[in-house]
Amino acid sequence: MSSADKESPSYPQFDTELTPSYGYVGTWEDAKAMKEFFELQKALRFPALRTSTSFGKTDILKGKRKKYKWAEADEYVAGGAIPYDGVPFIILDKNIYECEYGVDHKLKRKSLRGNRHNQENDAEGNTQKKQAAEIEKRKKRNCPAKIRMKEIMKFPDFQIDPDTRYNRNKGAENLNAAIAQGAVRGERRIYIYFPPDSEHRGHELRSQVCATKQHVDGRVLCLIDHLVEEGVTLAEEISQQISLCVQDAAATSQPGKDGADGHTKLSCPEEADIR
Ligand SMILES: [Zn+2]
Repeated sequence: MSSADKESPSYPQFDTELTPSYGYVGTWEDAKAMKEFFELQKALRFPALRTSTSFGKTDILKGKRKKYKWAEADEYVAGGAIPYDGVPFIILDKNIYECEYGVDHKLKRKSLRGNRHNQENDAEGNTQKKQAAEIEKRKKRNCPAKIRMKEIMKFPDFQIDPDTRYNRNKGAENLNAAIAQGAVRGERRIYIYFPPDSEHRGHELRSQVCATKQHVDGRVLCLIDHLVEEGVTLAEEISQQISLCVQDAAATSQPGKDGADGHTKLSCPEEADIR
């Protein structure tokens, strides 16, 4: 946004960047921070589709047979392949997170218990819970965009050169022997793939919508959309949020530029407009 943002190195970044949306970090904490920053930037949540509690700390001896890899081919891997560099590696685990507008995995479960559940809810007059479920249901649009994380272990001591079948087989053999002796040095990496905007389907991207609106009033409308979608429906609460936002914007806008010029001036909508 401003030059101040560029100077500040405080946002999470890849340890090694292969493309702006693909690279790796060394720890689960760094991977998590990058995911959270991406979600914030895109104004989208990516709930977990497949995760494990040991991710980022997976034991290399877990699993029966080690399958050493030297490279992955782009065409066979969804969301970023690991390029060849002569160093063998094993894939330890994968985490997948899908766009909040993704497939409704609860749909089947919902329809199975549907009738009995609904009757009970109606009898109880439990409308709040129903409303929340409705909002969640409306949101799902089978968007295929996913964040993919891959935890791997690289074995730099077993680097080969040149890349021949013989060298690969020999390398794997040596590596097996070293692992069996418990004397192997590994470098843990978590590769992260962030989906480009073009991967989203069936919904608009809030960050895009908000960025294309020229006027502050447009941003306010956008904020209202967002709040309504989040389930905030009380007019009072919405105008409170907008006031906070307007105060923020007023505090950061340049002095002397405001004045009578309506374009940069911020106005708070009346409660009646919101309803
Ligand atoms: Zn999406």
